Amino acid sequence: MKEKNLLDKYGEIAGRDVIEHLQQLARPLNGLRFVHINSTQTGGGVAEILQKLVPLMQELGIETSWEVITGESIFYQCTKSFHNAIQGNQVDVPESYLKVYEKTNADTAERLKGLLQEADVVIAHDPQPAALIKYFPNRRGKWVWRCHIDASRPFRPVWKYLREFVSEYDASIFSLSSFAQRLPHPVYLIAPSIDPFNEKNIDLGEEEISKVLQTFKIDPERPIILQVSRYDRFKDPFGVIRSYQLAKEFVPPLQLVLAGGGASDDPEGEEVLREVRTAAMDDPDIRILLLPADAHRTINALQRSADIVMQKSIKEGFGLTVTEAMWKNKPVIGGDTGGIRIQVVNHHTGFLVNTPEGAALRIRYLLHNPDIMEEMGKKAKEFVRENFLITRQLREYLTLIFALLHAKEERIELG
Ligand code: UDP
Repeated sequence: MKEKNLLDKYGEIAGRDVIEHLQQLARPLNGLRFVHINSTQTGGGVAEILQKLVPLMQELGIETSWEVITGESIFYQCTKSFHNAIQGNQVDVPESYLKVYEKTNADTAERLKGLLQEADVVIAHDPQPAALIKYFPNRRGKWVWRCHIDASRPFRPVWKYLREFVSEYDASIFSLSSFAQRLPHPVYLIAPSIDPFNEKNIDLGEEEISKVLQTFKIDPERPIILQVSRYDRFKDPFGVIRSYQLAKEFVPPLQLVLAGGGASDDPEGEEVLREVRTAAMDDPDIRILLLPADAHRTINALQRSADIVMQKSIKEGFGLTVTEAMWKNKPVIGGDTGGIRIQVVNHHTGFLVNTPEGAALRIRYLLHNPDIMEEMGKKAKEFVRENFLITRQLREYLTLIFALLHAKEERIELG
């Protein structure tokens, strides 16, 4: 449902000028019909973003609807295989699955015929609705494919199949340059963002934070290092433990919290978790937490209680945990890789590191220099405010759409 005064609410956080800029960009788009289409209304990052983006666009006066493609279980198995294949796994997608995929898209095209045919702009998110375009050869509007997945090294046979559909679009959007694929149309890059009003990021009272620390027997009086991550080797939990052990020789009261979840349905996650427990060697100052998937407020509280947040990944897509921590005034010590590099400005909003020794050195340095730590935390938050809030993502969507709609004009005036 449309929230009241959403723009004012975001204005208080992102700045009134940011909202005015959005209004300026939206004005020429008023009266146009936008459709977002993805495969779920709840759960997952795409739905989370659309839940805010759609009402914000409506409040800006852009007629925006959000449609969902649904199908039988084979459809989801098929699109899950697509997802894994785009991320590089070698998966064999049976012909019968592809038939269901195309049939589901055909049925959805039929169901939404009038809307999609007449829309001025259609944004299809991820592979699930990508084939819809095939059923609209005489579409009126511009169609954009938004890929939220790391498509840097897709499994070729599957990508070749999907590319047939994607190539039909007028443009596509990837999250980072390293995720993008070559396509016969303009390819845009729009980095992910966080929503300051979701449970993971809203302000929390001291009492709630204390309770969470109590629950996990974490001492609020002693320094806390935190990493929030799935138990995955690419997140380098072993490197984090090593960094902590090295730093602890110089900062003895140090505590380490590793918070992750989802291991129970991920066999590899379970194995990594077991190894992490072994590596922690029964150190009473290391807490290894296994959290349920919806523990957003708990993660929020842990991030707020930490002195330093680590994300020592060896390989990383974007690293939303970094953004979340920076938004909470935390300097981040992050692995020098992927999207961490565009968030952690070395020596300003945190430190980029390559080894446990390097990380330990930075932990010591920050804990011995609380003023610098505070200063870095402040800069980190401002950096997120400027670059990684949902309002920035919306601004980029609007700019892109505007450019697409006026691609043939020599001069574009925003009014
Ligand atoms: N997260 C969570 N529970 C966990 C671990 C992570 O809710 O146990 C959240 C985390 O706060 C972040 C997202 O999941 O919002 C992880 O995104 P990120 O880009 O950091 O890494 P990914 O898991 O996508 O590789």
